[in-house]
Amino acid sequence: MHQLTLAEIARGLADKKFSSEELTKVLLARIAQLDPQLNSFISLTEDLALTQAKAADARRANGESGALLGAPIAHKDLFCTQGIRTSCGSKMLDNFKAPYDATVVAKLAAAGAVTLGKTNMDEFAMGSANESSYYGAVKNPWNLEHVPGGSSGGSAAAVAARLLPAATGTDTGGSIRQPAALTNLTGLKPTYGRVSRWGMIAYASSLDQGGPLARTAEDCAILLQGMAGFDPNDSTSIDEPVPDYSASLNGSLQGLRIGVPKEYFSAGLDPRIAELIHNSVKELEKLGAVVKEISLPNMQHAIPAYYVIAPAEASSNLSRFDGVRFGYRCENPVNLIDLYKRSRGEGFGPEVQRRIMVGAYALSAGYYDAYYLKAQRIRRLIKNDFMAAFNEVDIILGPTTPNPAWKLGAKNSDPVAAYLEDVYTITANLAGLPGLSMPAGFVDGLPVGVQLLAPYFQEGRLLNVAHQYQLNTDWHTRTPTGF
Ligand code: GLN
Repeated sequence: MHQLTLAEIARGLADKKFSSEELTKVLLARIAQLDPQLNSFISLTEDLALTQAKAADARRANGESGALLGAPIAHKDLFCTQGIRTSCGSKMLDNFKAPYDATVVAKLAAAGAVTLGKTNMDEFAMGSANESSYYGAVKNPWNLEHVPGGSSGGSAAAVAARLLPAATGTDTGGSIRQPAALTNLTGLKPTYGRVSRWGMIAYASSLDQGGPLARTAEDCAILLQGMAGFDPNDSTSIDEPVPDYSASLNGSLQGLRIGVPKEYFSAGLDPRIAELIHNSVKELEKLGAVVKEISLPNMQHAIPAYYVIAPAEASSNLSRFDGVRFGYRCENPVNLIDLYKRSRGEGFGPEVQRRIMVGAYALSAGYYDAYYLKAQRIRRLIKNDFMAAFNEVDIILGPTTPNPAWKLGAKNSDPVAAYLEDVYTITANLAGLPGLSMPAGFVDGLPVGVQLLAPYFQEGRLLNVAHQYQLNTDWHTRTPTGF
């Protein structure tokens, strides 16, 4: 039963082959048995899951239907869940029980999804390896000595190991697409403003966006349908109708114009990944797509710009964790300054402290123009590059990551080496564009992802291209040994 996709679960529940309660019990037992190897969950919510599963079964018995009604999922532990610990992977929030549900959590619960638990993540979503969590590193089910990617690494590892069919994630600079690539999943970062950020603990507010992680594009369509939509509680949410994503999965790729940026194939890219990307292009050509080389000339500036803007916003967002209002407070402070210093010094891990310092520096009076303002200008140039490219092509294709999953600890002493792994993903966040990663093959037994980018609000196009590709390839069906 644990091998079923969300789409298969919906059919099985509708045909009364099994109940949501039965399925939930099977998956909870599987998590108890296998997750100790992976560490993909921070909290399990067994009681809530069984209550929700029984309620979903009762709704079905009363004639209700819906693709998510009774479907087991999990939430990255930065989505607020009422009365349940919402830690953001940090000691700072280890004791924090959210007083309300995030909009995404509430919408999915209303659609009948069953929450099995809260998944592990890099502390405050800062990272690409899921090693900065206060709750310990997550392991990649494809090789337990390797990282699963981050920061949504717990969601990715759990879905890849078939502990559950799908989970939510968030993506500020790649944290849905990169772990999807490193664990052989399909993951979608929606257009900025498509999914409400209300109740999502902020890392970098102008870049953060929630989205689905699942094995197939078909399942991402189902989960995104439950997450997307206008929310008056989020001032950056966009009041744009949500299309039927599952209905968008049957479009022909005949004549689809695919742009492949020449800058993507530079020295930093593992040549074995480059070959797999070229193979995926050939596969899409067989389905009728037309391929064209394009250029994104400002891409080389993306990492420095992102690593100014994201820490700048983080330094502001994280100032609320002061030992007074939320979360961790140090023992026996001698005065107010001591309370601030030690609560933040003890509550935040080293990567979070590094980013707060970089961000505060970039925003300080003497350096604002030199760093923050310049980074914002680069951000606009990157967006302009994309706008020009999308005048010529319908979709942009390339690698999701320059390398496959690295060994646990391999980049711990060199944060910049980890930042460079984000080179292909962060531009979509800087421009606010939707992006998807899907399985495209293996290197040394480790999964490789291909990334697709589309114009604003064309999530349906991304899902359709990925679905057509998945109807003609079987990379996404491969299962890690032992799971
Ligand atoms: N790796 C990037 C960072 O550390 C992106 C993280 C994310 O998308 N949350 O900032």
